[in-house]
Amino acid sequence: MDDRRVPTDLAALPKAEVHVHLEGSVRPATLDELCHRGRYVVPRTFHDLNGFIHAVSAAWTTMMQPGDYARLVREYCEDAARAGIRYAEVELVPGGRPYDCLGEAVEAASRQRDVAVRFVAGLNRDLPLELAWMMLEATKGVPEVVAVGLGGAEDGFPPEPFAALFAEARRWGLHSAPHAGEDAGAVSVRGALAALGAERIQHGVRAVEDPALVAELAARGIPLAICPTSNLRLGVVRSLDDHPLRDLWASGVRVSVNTDDPGFFGCDLVGEYVIAGRLLGLDRAGYARLALNSVESTFAPEEVKADLRRAIADWLDG
Ligand SMILES: [Zn+2]
Repeated sequence: MDDRRVPTDLAALPKAEVHVHLEGSVRPATLDELCHRGRYVVPRTFHDLNGFIHAVSAAWTTMMQPGDYARLVREYCEDAARAGIRYAEVELVPGGRPYDCLGEAVEAASRQRDVAVRFVAGLNRDLPLELAWMMLEATKGVPEVVAVGLGGAEDGFPPEPFAALFAEARRWGLHSAPHAGEDAGAVSVRGALAALGAERIQHGVRAVEDPALVAELAARGIPLAICPTSNLRLGVVRSLDDHPLRDLWASGVRVSVNTDDPGFFGCDLVGEYVIAGRLLGLDRAGYARLALNSVESTFAPEEVKADLRRAIADWLDG
């Protein structure tokens, strides 16, 4: 029997998702509805990060009414539960109205039973720093926000201007989980580690260009939250066969797979596991190890991680 077949119960494998954007998780049908409501047009095709940022920014303008962020959370959780996600750290970028959107999202998340949702306060490299400080301020006294993130175009927008803000966020007890090493190379990952005290790197795939950096990530146990389909759709890799996941996994880096913006990329987490399984030649124990990596990549309390580890062990035995 070939034990490298995709397990038929892969959707039931308990997983954590640590790289997904609430606004980018919008179901296509929901986005259609939101566009229709506000008479907006949102481009659905893009070939690189800048094109995608243009599309997602347009989508974001459709999500500005009360109730929209609660709906996004509800629908993400329904989809996540179907993919076996038990715990998620969801990044959100509510721009000019962080208090309303965050409050609504946290309230909606508190009603979820199948998926425990925590939030990452998303900051944007290419927006004014004042907005980033406002977002950080909005997280005060919101224990469901566990980390601060940094996204947007990397090229021309290095992390260093955000160093003081990240230092302040870390003083407040927030973790550091910036994007890096997606459309800029290893230098961007090094910058995220040095300037932002990154404890997890969102993407980070281009770290592979620098073997010393890969060794450092492995030695320090810094997780990379990798999104294969996103990388393909945005031209970060030419084909899935070229994806550096294999090299990073073989080098002992803690890698997980994630959907990033599933509403735009047409992916789901089970599909990302199948892609990883093919790239890494995973057997059943390998899939369980990948899921364990996702759990160890979270900022969840130890008791939550312990529950998830047990649930994964049960799946492996099942
Ligand atoms: Zn992302």
